[in-house]
Amino acid sequence: MSEVETIKAYPFLLNGEWQNTTSERTIEIESPSGAETPGAVQAMTESEVNAAISGANEAQKNWARKSFDERAQVLHSWADQLLLMKDEIAEAIMKEAGKGLSSAEKEVVRTADFIKYTAEEGKRLHGELINGGSFNAGSANKFALVNRNPIGVVLAISPFNYPVNLSAAKIAPALIGGNAVVFKPATQGAISGTLMIEALDKAGLPSGLVNLVTGKGAEIGDHLITHPLIDLINFTGGSQTGKSISQKASMVPLILELGGKDPAIVLEDADLDKAAADIASGGFSYSGQRCTAIKRVLVQDEKADELVAKIKEKMNGLKVGAPEDSADVTPLINSKAADYVTGLIDDAVEKGAEVASGNQREGNLIYPTLLDSVTKDMQIAWEEPFGPVIPVIRVESVDEAINIANESEYGLQASIFTKNMEQAIQIGNELEVGSVQINGKTERGPDHFPFLGVKSSGVGGQGIRKSIESMTREKVTVLNMTQG
Ligand code: NAP
Repeated sequence: MSEVETIKAYPFLLNGEWQNTTSERTIEIESPSGAETPGAVQAMTESEVNAAISGANEAQKNWARKSFDERAQVLHSWADQLLLMKDEIAEAIMKEAGKGLSSAEKEVVRTADFIKYTAEEGKRLHGELINGGSFNAGSANKFALVNRNPIGVVLAISPFNYPVNLSAAKIAPALIGGNAVVFKPATQGAISGTLMIEALDKAGLPSGLVNLVTGKGAEIGDHLITHPLIDLINFTGGSQTGKSISQKASMVPLILELGGKDPAIVLEDADLDKAAADIASGGFSYSGQRCTAIKRVLVQDEKADELVAKIKEKMNGLKVGAPEDSADVTPLINSKAADYVTGLIDDAVEKGAEVASGNQREGNLIYPTLLDSVTKDMQIAWEEPFGPVIPVIRVESVDEAINIANESEYGLQASIFTKNMEQAIQIGNELEVGSVQINGKTERGPDHFPFLGVKSSGVGGQGIRKSIESMTREKVTVLNMTQG
């Protein structure tokens, strides 16, 4: 038997049936650590993609007629099934995304919590009644009933780094809002995506309501995003991919969660131990492959030496190694990603940055790297590495920190470390970002908080309630009462 024949090829779910593609082409998933492949997924054909979209369009009509309570029951049951499959799904996340096993397990549990909260939040979705008489004379006989209706078929495209959580964060709110979903997981994350849909299928998913599409984004992406039966695109991934989608998908509502370059701004009165601990864990956990990872430190000169020393100390507590050992820093998703990070480090070092710690590489594993005295002419000051490297930029004033923070093309989150709350709030108001964390690391969640990016970091809002609102549409019915 040849080596290829021993690889498990996962099927896709199309209109209630688990199937293999008629193209007979599969895509082998790479192991980030260079271990054997965890399996393969189907490279679906355009006609199978068309069937997935039209099947979802058909299924949505019945689903929209179900009560919120009936929809919520499917979601609750999905969360239960996910927990029953926790070990299998966590293992898949570990193997294809290279995430530490315990973090992968936490991702599954967090996702089940997310789905259950979404089910309950959806039940509380209601409209409003607007009294016409509160506007100009002559409108007192009018009432507007404003209701929230489903949008139709949501195309959910997710990234590799949280293949289960960020996929459910699109699918669950879409479903509770009465939509159908065509779900295209990241290829490097498609096995985890397939398993979570298996859990949903076991939970009693109506046929066609969520169809799974596997295949390379570069091959089937354009076809998916320009299909006339797609009513909304909910995408998480790189800014370049997001921008290209927004250019091609004309007149289709978009929710885009994209890249970031989140700064930690450390003021001279900050609790440096707390700041250093948050910077080390916020910057290096899961090897910095998080959209909200701390991706640069802006520190006032007077405290820079002390802060760098403390971050280095905290970095000693990071576990570097294999996902199976639940390491914090594990091999990056592929060699292209690792080469990119190495290139950014080399560029900074050539231009005079000091390596305070790290700068070692073994295959796709890059040791956590802290670069001091980074200046604005270095690429690492602006680019998103999506790897375990943090540049420290020393600033002379708070204004300089704000300016450098805002010069970035990105605007996801920012952290401010200071004991002066009033100043923190003032700085936060000036930062061009979706969220500001005062005395805490940048991070997504708790999942019911609103979550959004500005500039190249995104379009539209998410976070459980916001996500349901973003994937439903207001419908206004005006009652014109007879005047007595
Ligand atoms: P990516 O390369 O942009 O891929 C994301 C998704 O888009 C994958 O499913 C990919 O499929 C698909 N895709 C690729 N080309 C496409 C096309 N032409 N049309 C439609 N879909 C296409 O991003 P990634 O490397 O998976 O994720 C890392 C990035 O995501 C980082 O920049 C990170 O900051 C960002 N991110 C942002 C957030 C947030 O909430 N703001 C959260 C997590 C990650 P294939 O896998 O088949 O190529």
